[in-house]
Amino acid sequence: MPVPIILSSPSGGGKTTIAHELLASRKDVGYSVSCTTRPPRPGETEGKDYYFLTEEKFKQRHGAREFAESATVHGHLYGTLRAEVERVLASGRNVIMDIDVQGTRQFAKAFPDSILIFILPPSSEALISRLEARGTEDVEALIRRFRSAEVELKAIDLYQYVIVNDKLDSAVAAVSDIIDGKGQRFERSRNPELAGRVKELMKGIQRAIDQYSARK
Ligand code: ADP
Ligand code: 5GP
Repeated sequence: MPVPIILSSPSGGGKTTIAHELLASRKDVGYSVSCTTRPPRPGETEGKDYYFLTEEKFKQRHGAREFAESATVHGHLYGTLRAEVERVLASGRNVIMDIDVQGTRQFAKAFPDSILIFILPPSSEALISRLEARGTEDVEALIRRFRSAEVELKAIDLYQYVIVNDKLDSAVAAVSDIIDGKGQRFERSRNPELAGRVKELMKGIQRAIDQYSARK
């Protein structure tokens, strides 16, 4: 039976990249295109990356109960359309979603057989340099994303699986193994050392918040 697969991570953790790689390499995985009120980034396409909505339109669709979950993330509204999820599942494919921790909580209640995967960056330095290299956020937005990263990391216990995105190929292979039922080694409960890693990440992110705030 096809199932929903949720990827969450601090912003810059690599979940969008991993989802794209999986979609390119597996025919049994489809993507649920989310709605958002954030403006498109250069290169993003309407209906492929997101459905870009005005706040008014988003609220209208929310009122019409079109969302399986929705949340405010980094100051913008985001939501998963029930119809998108059903469309992919009905085609016999697993549906991959890149949603935040608040959305995951809501979604997992509606779809209890979902596979929940948390992606960790290998270090706070890697996270910061990847976000900077992506170059899509100004300092203000970066600080907001670092603050959200702390909130996301605190919710890691919600997830069944944790993958460290050091080498992209290995991270993609790890998600693939989980989909195939061969990912037991990535179960959070089997990796108690993750708690220390998360603590270190939090410290590094807090340092970055202090440094970037001083630059403003
Ligand atoms: P997210 O969707 O979690 O915010 P992205 O997928 O946009 O993160 O990744 C953030 C940046 O890091 C992108 O520029 C991406 O190309 C890069 N990236 C992702 N995974 C890796 C990796 N394993 N090694 C190096 N760079 C990576
Ligand atoms: P970005 O703006 O970088 O594409 O995404 C920002 C954050 O919004 C990420 O944490 C991403 O997981 C989350 N996000 C993207 N789509 C959705 C969605 O449909 N619902 C929820 N709750 N979060 C989403």
